[in-house]
Formats: sequence, C-alpha cells, structure tokens
Amino acid sequence: MTKINKYKISRVTSLSIVLNNNKIYNLISKVIGIELDYDSPIFREIEEYIVEKFEEMDDNRPTPACGFCGNDIDNDSIYCSYECSKADNTERV
Ligand SMILES: [Zn+2]
Repeated sequence: MTKINKYKISRVTSLSIVLNNNKIYNLISKVIGIELDYDSPIFREIEEYIVEKFEEMDDNRPTPACGFCGNDIDNDSIYCSYECSKADNTERV
C-alpha cells in the first residue's frame, strides 16, 4: 500500500510540474472565464483526480486477444500464432 501511494504521489507531482510549466491552468482559467486562486489546495485535488482517472482507464483496459481465435496474446501482436494470422486473412478474401 505504501509503495502504491509513493508511486501515485510521484505521478501527481510529475503531472503538476507539466501543467504548471505549460501554464495549463492559465489557459483553462481563460477558456472557462474564471479567475483562479493559484494558492488554492484544490489544484492538488484536480491533479490527483486526473491521475486516478487515467489509472482507472488503464486498469479497465481489456486483455489483448487473438484477432482470430480470441486466445490471450502479447500486447504488440494481433494473432496468437501464424496459423491464426493465415486463417483470418484467408477467410476475409
Ligand atoms: Zn489465435
């Protein structure tokens, strides 16, 4: 649990640096027409929320499956085997 929290804090901190370096809050403030209180602790909450939502999205990513037979596969491939690749491409023709 402690490890996960540390990891999360570092992600939030990294996000915070990126948002501030690019003056993202200034842009958001202009676009939505609200004057921001830059000392507000709410920015930390916003950044934590963004990181949480991204992590949620990552957790919900479906496990990759073969495009032909549906077997589990490695992230960077489309088919589990040469046979499946061949079979799928033959069926489509
Ligand atoms: Zn397959």
